[in-house]
Amino acid sequence: MKNNIFEDLKQKVDSDKSHMSRRDALKFMGISPIAASVLATTTTSSVANASEDVQGKIVIVGGGAGGIMALSRLSSTIKNPDITIIAPNEVHLYQPGQVFVGAGEMKVEDLKIDNNNYIDQDKVTWVKDEVATFDADNNLVVTRAGKEIKYDVLVVASGIQYHYEQIKGLKEEDIGTNGITSVYLSDLEKGTAVGATATWDWFNELKEAAKTKKPKVIYTQPNTPIKCGGAPQKMLYLSADFLKQDGLSAEYSFVSSKKELFHLPEVDKALHEVQSGYDKITSMFKHHLNSIDVKAKKATFIHAYEKEVYDEDMEETEVVSFADKVVMDYDFIHIVPPMSPVDSVVKSKLINDAGWLDVDKNSLQHKRYKNVFGIGDVCGIPMGKTGGSARHHGPILVDNIISFMKKEEPKAIFDGYTVCPIKTQYGKIMMAEFNYDGPAPSFPLAIDQSRWVWWAFDLYMLKPMYQYLMLPGRM
Ligand SMILES: Cc1cc2nc3c(=O)[nH]c(=O)nc-3n(C[C@H](O)[C@H](O)[C@H](O)COP(=O)(O)OP(=O)(O)OC[C@H]3O[C@@H](n4cnc5c(N)ncnc54)[C@H](O)[C@@H]3O)c2cc1C
Repeated sequence: MKNNIFEDLKQKVDSDKSHMSRRDALKFMGISPIAASVLATTTTSSVANASEDVQGKIVIVGGGAGGIMALSRLSSTIKNPDITIIAPNEVHLYQPGQVFVGAGEMKVEDLKIDNNNYIDQDKVTWVKDEVATFDADNNLVVTRAGKEIKYDVLVVASGIQYHYEQIKGLKEEDIGTNGITSVYLSDLEKGTAVGATATWDWFNELKEAAKTKKPKVIYTQPNTPIKCGGAPQKMLYLSADFLKQDGLSAEYSFVSSKKELFHLPEVDKALHEVQSGYDKITSMFKHHLNSIDVKAKKATFIHAYEKEVYDEDMEETEVVSFADKVVMDYDFIHIVPPMSPVDSVVKSKLINDAGWLDVDKNSLQHKRYKNVFGIGDVCGIPMGKTGGSARHHGPILVDNIISFMKKEEPKAIFDGYTVCPIKTQYGKIMMAEFNYDGPAPSFPLAIDQSRWVWWAFDLYMLKPMYQYLMLPGRM
């Protein structure tokens, strides 16, 4: 790995078939205070030298964003590290780009990242398999092929799985047919993202349909935590803008299990203003997609709500929970499935009551099995199911693992940092950054405004930064 990050980026832009020419990229870096400031800080804060002389076998499960970042940081921090990574996939996907593929701004090929560039098999043992069983009481995992692997420290970085099957009447094969799409659908083991390409076709089919009538379009958001909580709305605004550019429109319904568009009041208010700029979006809350009739194009939601009811016998008012069925017709639907950790984690003793990895929200150390740590989406913490959060988990995780190996208490604290770049139209992003305490913008710009600079940053700079700075643990 070269030391000069600007040189890395220049070479990357030169050699890449992505949308930005080297001239444009340099121009952008020159005019962008954000890129300049991010790169300036990263050139001076490379990862620590391999100075930590700690003993023990570390096993990392998962070769996506979090697993690779953890591997890079641990290998470059510990002298003579003993690390095994269990990851079946040679390629992993830069998943934030799936939204850009869905909107026709990137190709799936642009998202593929070769894990061989980060897993140095002279220094690290790479088991190309999946963990089938976590046996935390005996400090071991068992792979699908039946291999038992012991550890002193375990890092769980196995991400999230989608549950399309929990929507009655829907099969994954329906996505890309009958007006149904889902930008999320991917196979992370194979490195394919069929949902993203299906979504770009869906954008075009929707536009075609809008030329003769106003189609009914539904966008859903489930009642579980999801990765990139902003993605359901990104697809709404981008597809609405895609039509608007040709003077077309539809009847858009954003139907969400949440109680608001966004949990930060300033962002929530700004998103309502974004919606009023489109003709015409209706938002419905506390509605969870329960089933779908693919052929008849009907979606059934459960509307869960509470209401005060007067009890005449008791002569008092009480709060009663209701769950009504709401059936909606549609021509097109974008579905975001319920999500959970992968089965092997869910079946293990490592989970909390909600079914996620039971780590402390500040130290990322398991609450009961102290030699187990988490990074990325699998963590059962209130925030942080984004790649940007996994980047912030990285240094915290490594510091606390080193402390554990030195038999000290963990000291490093994750503050809940989460970044949500909400694409409000082509060329504009509202960058919502927050932590456990509230808004946490990295730069002194209001977080409730859509800006071109964030779009350019996200579309052109983030993937090279992810590939050349984040994954090698250099930022
Ligand atoms: C459509 C979409 C848009 C997004 N937009 C953004 C965005 O704008 N900004 C942002 O910061 N983030 C965004 N994200 C989220 C971001 O991609 C994830 O938060 C990030 O990838 C999490 O990293 P991870 O390592 O936890 O999981 P992943 O990167 O998903 O990696 C998990 C890996 O573990 C592997 N695995 C699973 N089970 C096992 C097992 N049993 N054994 C071994 N390996 C296993 C999987 O195959 C996978 O390779 C988006 C995601 C999607 C899908």
